[in-house]
Amino acid sequence: MSKRRSNGLLNSLLGAITGGGVRVVDLTMTLDQKVPTIVLPPELGQSWPFRLEEISRYDHRGPNTYWNNMSCGEHTGTHFDAPIHWISGKDLPDNATDTIPPEMFLAHACVVDCTLEAEKDPDYLLTIQKVEEWEEENGKIPPRSWLVMRTDWSMKFDPVEYLNLDDTGAHTPGPHMDLVPWLIEERDVVGFGCEAVGTDAGQAQHFNIPFPCHHLMHGHGRFGLPALTNLDKLPPQGSLFITPPLKIRQGSGSPVRVLALVEE
Ligand code: MN
Repeated sequence: MSKRRSNGLLNSLLGAITGGGVRVVDLTMTLDQKVPTIVLPPELGQSWPFRLEEISRYDHRGPNTYWNNMSCGEHTGTHFDAPIHWISGKDLPDNATDTIPPEMFLAHACVVDCTLEAEKDPDYLLTIQKVEEWEEENGKIPPRSWLVMRTDWSMKFDPVEYLNLDDTGAHTPGPHMDLVPWLIEERDVVGFGCEAVGTDAGQAQHFNIPFPCHHLMHGHGRFGLPALTNLDKLPPQGSLFITPPLKIRQGSGSPVRVLALVEE
């Protein structure tokens, strides 16, 4: 067997992670009974909330063992949306959690701070103009990046406030309809990430293209990363997201532990 070759790249990275230079930021909500689950109109199928049931805890059911059964919808808490999730992406190749090429789960991220806008208006929509202003300060979005919308929405720990539902539906921020095709065609993003329960704005069913972030992103083989948290700990540019979903056969998504590597 030939000696393994290495140019030290991965050792340098690991050295920086353990010894300083690269910070690891956890962008994941903790999965428990309170983790927000999307609520759909009652005539539609519903996603199961997260549930944990103890199998044993060093007791008569298993004296040496603590473990649980768990159940939830694929789209629970911080999670990954695969192209097969939407009808527009159903016939694309490699469109499910088990078939997306794994290198796609590593990508650069561009974080656009919309906290002031979202605080003033829960229905705030991120526009092309706002992203262009971001680019003037931070440089052009590199191809194959996540566009991440920071709103600090995930700091609303009360699920009622977080989902923000009334008789007219949900009121949560998201991308403007015009921004989505621009991000795909002009910037070639890998997907869209945000802090709300879904990648589309709460009122996006009323847009000319309903749910444009789902319809267009997934229709073009791109991904979604909703319910992120700790985005305030990221720089606008220069972080690497690690986002592998569970390898569910023909999965439409799954909860995911999203980590960001940030160069200091
Ligand atoms: Mn989803």
